[in-house]
Amino acid sequence: MAPILELKNFHYYYGNIEAVKGIDIRVEPGEMVTLIGANGAGKTTTMQSISGLTPASGVRGEIWFDGKRIDKKKGNKITAMGLCHVLEGRHVFSQLSVEENLKMGAYLRKDNAGIRESFAKVYELFPRLLERKTQMAGTLSGGEQQMLAIGRAMMGKPKMILLDEPSLGLAPIVVHAIFEAIVEINRQGTTILFVEQNSKIALATAHRGYVMQTGKIVLADTCENLESNEEVKKAYLGMK
Ligand code: ATP
Repeated sequence: MAPILELKNFHYYYGNIEAVKGIDIRVEPGEMVTLIGANGAGKTTTMQSISGLTPASGVRGEIWFDGKRIDKKKGNKITAMGLCHVLEGRHVFSQLSVEENLKMGAYLRKDNAGIRESFAKVYELFPRLLERKTQMAGTLSGGEQQMLAIGRAMMGKPKMILLDEPSLGLAPIVVHAIFEAIVEINRQGTTILFVEQNSKIALATAHRGYVMQTGKIVLADTCENLESNEEVKKAYLGMK
């Protein structure tokens, strides 16, 4: 099958500093894939380069999405192609209501019936957002803001969602709920690539994983195999 996303010998340079050192990543349509690794490994740089948020001047190598080369494209063009990035820190519009935030996610769409359907899907997945649809986003809890950020991405009906650190700063029970929702979004057909500090939950949830270390991919395998890999256990799962 042709991959929906492919990075070929991808490097990223901040000036003279090579933050990502020639990596290959391949994600098939329908897959849920995680990128794990220690702080500073280059995960955020990689994700932001895929979605066109880093200056293209730092990119070497190729990034392909849905059959087209995207490494020189601007972020808004990439979003319009069907790739939506949910950023770390969530970035909801705090002065707008939950419903208005969701509406913003559908700004490129004109199919009103389809938009109504997406609203229904988001509210079914996150009943908490329905209960709070008129509430200002800035007054939501951290977990609810994360739900809203994911819901807003769904409103664009993307082919693929990139997620940065979905568990960041959230209580374990909320993390569990968020990951259940992500799995469901994937089950309904959206391809997912996510970065996660909590390697345990990442490997328990995704199909495949890439382990990044100082700018390189050091391991790429099914999550099942990564979970039983001695190096991964020691370095990322806190097991001796
Ligand atoms: P974290 O989980 O801590 O965010 P990460 O794996 O996402 O880590 P990156 O944030 O991609 O790693 O950083 C990779 C390397 O690039 C680091 O050494 C970092 O210091 C460097 N870096 C990141 N952003 C910049 C920047 N704007 N200018 C210069 N160097 C940068």
